[in-house]
Amino acid sequence: MDPIGDCLPCAIAAGRVAVPGGVIHRTGLWLVEHAIGPLPLGSLIVKPARHVVHVADLTAEEAAELGPLLREAARVTTELTRPDQVYVSLWSHADGVPGHIHFVVQPVTRADAAEFGFGPRLQLAIFEADRPPAPGSVAAFAESARSLFGRA
Ligand SMILES: [Zn+2]
Repeated sequence: MDPIGDCLPCAIAAGRVAVPGGVIHRTGLWLVEHAIGPLPLGSLIVKPARHVVHVADLTAEEAAELGPLLREAARVTTELTRPDQVYVSLWSHADGVPGHIHFVVQPVTRADAAEFGFGPRLQLAIFEADRPPAPGSVAAFAESARSLFGRA
């Protein structure tokens, strides 16, 4: 099995697999999409276009783009979801195997915190509750977010 050929983030980046909302923003080296699964509306995925499995393997150019892009992703979701906080996390470890790194930029509202708690416990509880946002709302969010990237 080719590890890159089987990589879902690579397949999405190459357009072989569609995600609700599609690619929202693309720099030369990074892509932003809406998260798939139960994370709340406005949760963005920031991942390198290249198949990179360890943060330590990012090139200097990829690393230089990362900070500004994470800030911009947080700014965009803040503008659209008005959260109490935005979490940025990276867990890229699927079934014990390191995978294509992808930062999760997740808005957390007071209502989320009241229902699920805070920090890692909130993320875990959201996955256990398994209530993904409606695909239509994800597509609408992506369309709004697309117009906000690059404005900073
Ligand atoms: Zn990959």
